[in-house]
Amino acid sequence: MEGWRAWIEVDLGALWANYLLLKARAQGEVIPVLKADAYGHGALPIARFLEERGVGRFAVATIAEGRALREGGVRGEVLLLGSLHPLEAEAALRWGLTPTLSTLEAARALAERAWALGLTPRAHLKVDTGMNRVGFPWEEALAALRAVEALGVRVEGVYSHLATAGEDEAFVEVQRGRFQRVREALGPGYFYHLENSYGLLLHGGENARVGLALYGLVPGFGLRPVLRLLARPTLVKRLKAGDRVGYGGAFVAQGGEWLATLPVGYADGLPRGAVAFVRGPGGERFRVAGRISMDQTTVLLPGPVDLWAVFEVLSPDFGPTGLLAWAEARGTIPYEVAVHLSRRLPRVYL
Ligand code: PLP
Repeated sequence: MEGWRAWIEVDLGALWANYLLLKARAQGEVIPVLKADAYGHGALPIARFLEERGVGRFAVATIAEGRALREGGVRGEVLLLGSLHPLEAEAALRWGLTPTLSTLEAARALAERAWALGLTPRAHLKVDTGMNRVGFPWEEALAALRAVEALGVRVEGVYSHLATAGEDEAFVEVQRGRFQRVREALGPGYFYHLENSYGLLLHGGENARVGLALYGLVPGFGLRPVLRLLARPTLVKRLKAGDRVGYGGAFVAQGGEWLATLPVGYADGLPRGAVAFVRGPGGERFRVAGRISMDQTTVLLPGPVDLWAVFEVLSPDFGPTGLLAWAEARGTIPYEVAVHLSRRLPRVYL
């Protein structure tokens, strides 16, 4: 017998539609951000899918993420976001990853390791235009560029990150202005990129590094969520009056209700306390009964279903069973919910 009792379906057609929509808004390149396993969607299959369609540059956060893409056969440029630590220089070079520099110490380590290995040190320079997290201060960008280049590092790109896109547009404009001044000071010959999802969607722009919107997790722009979580019951039973369900016995039956146990829980990424409904095989909404456990969730039904019935625990839409509703109910952002969808759920690509 084949199939899964619980799995995540990733709609690559929807992802591609989102990519094209974003590409149409950008006056330049759209770099898919594939960190944290492509926000839970699965980095390697997505990179392969996009590479087959001509996308030539990706971004990840860590050496291990970049290495996994290389081992999976991805050949395009893989940019390491965040600031390279000197001790990572050799691994970045060996795996052919493009590091981001925001310290001279890391630049020096990169140059030294590259020469020792007979490789060319290449990097993007990060400029801090107001986030104060990583990057050379924007006022010192030219001096930083010269110092890095003097070490023999080939700087191919220069970028910054928006701290408040979608939250504080006035500060976005401050950052844009600073980045523009950096561009004027450094001149042509570098690949400049600034926009993220909200930056690109709200303002347009040139080159963008895009995660959230690529996965369709921004409502209101015609984007389509890409992912859904499905599960089949492992047990269906009828409750008697007074039966208590789950930890703490938090749900007490009146008697006669039908209950399905779905084999997914908070270890799979369901935000405990935030998932109130799942969708049944006909699209109908069913209430979660009692507390979500680590590996199981119990759902109230009007009648019995068989063990092959498929429930949509997380829907690919902006409704009450979608990822945004989960995030909102938990008082967090969709990024956090997406990256916590468990690796133990198989991903199936459509
Ligand atoms: N660029 C950098 C440096 C990031 O850290 C991120 C994600 O946080 C992105 C781009 C993509 O942002 P978003 O998912 O909002 O498009």
